[in-house]
Amino acid sequence: MPAAGGAAGAAAADWVTLLLSPWGLALLGLCVGSFLNVVVHRLPTIYMRGWWAFDVADFALRDKRSWRSAFGERAEPPPELPAAAAAIDKQLEGAPELSLWRPRSRCPRCGHMLRASENIPVISWLALRGRCSACRAPIAKRYPLVEAATAALFGLCAVTYGPTWQAAVACAAVALLVAMALIDLDYTLLPDSLTIPLVALGLLASALGVTAVPWKDAAIGALAGYGILWFLGVVWAVLLRKPNAMAEGDMKMLAGLGALLGWQALPGILLVSAGVGSVVGIALIAFGGHKRGTPIPFGPYLALAGLAALLMRETFVALAERMLPLVGA
Ligand SMILES: [Zn+2]
Repeated sequence: MPAAGGAAGAAAADWVTLLLSPWGLALLGLCVGSFLNVVVHRLPTIYMRGWWAFDVADFALRDKRSWRSAFGERAEPPPELPAAAAAIDKQLEGAPELSLWRPRSRCPRCGHMLRASENIPVISWLALRGRCSACRAPIAKRYPLVEAATAALFGLCAVTYGPTWQAAVACAAVALLVAMALIDLDYTLLPDSLTIPLVALGLLASALGVTAVPWKDAAIGALAGYGILWFLGVVWAVLLRKPNAMAEGDMKMLAGLGALLGWQALPGILLVSAGVGSVVGIALIAFGGHKRGTPIPFGPYLALAGLAALLMRETFVALAERMLPLVGA
């Protein structure tokens, strides 16, 4: 029955339009923001466990070949190294199981497991007045703020792109960028499991014609995003005669932004992120008691500039045309 099928199709299209409306996406953003809080809390732990298990224990401490390659064919690794690797194994075995999905969220102080009614984005925090229902320990303001900010950004994506798949791609990018910004802020760490999906999202969306960015601009954007920071790192290292201080995570993150928004957006993103980063960095050193030498994460500023470019791509491309007359040619 084509008429009934058409009606069902129209009803499904209505649902998609409703979901992709500003309020629909803002509501979805609240839930995604709640999940991002879990990601930001747990992903570094999962990443660090993998680092200790594979990079340190298996690769560094147990690998006789790398020791000999570094210190000579006849060099024998000291017995402390395998002993340390065994200690790491033991520690990892004793660690409670952890994934993004399990176990359910608990109060870090008393272990109270959150009920479904205590897990409603923003509202639960307000209803509990920012305290654990069991032990009254304060719950960080950051949780509801991340949920509200994600909701606002999802809503803005809907306003910017209309009820299109482009809005959905923009929201996925927002989720990745928010998680990257916060994890980098907390640990000066940009996990591949967040940066690489951003590159893939940008390239795929452009190849499938979901975004307005031609695939060539996306591909050049990915290469240029990685390459610019790599090159700046090399110049810095040569000029100051220091090891390259540019983190690979930042290069991959800018590659992701280049893939998502096209290479034309990169000059503006770099200008805004470096500008805001310098102002905040100088303010932190001057007023915040920031110790010189501790690394300042660049990811949060890249995320900030990337989000601005996502919502105002035309402005960023126009900025590049002003900065580099070549872009307009
Ligand atoms: Zn508690």
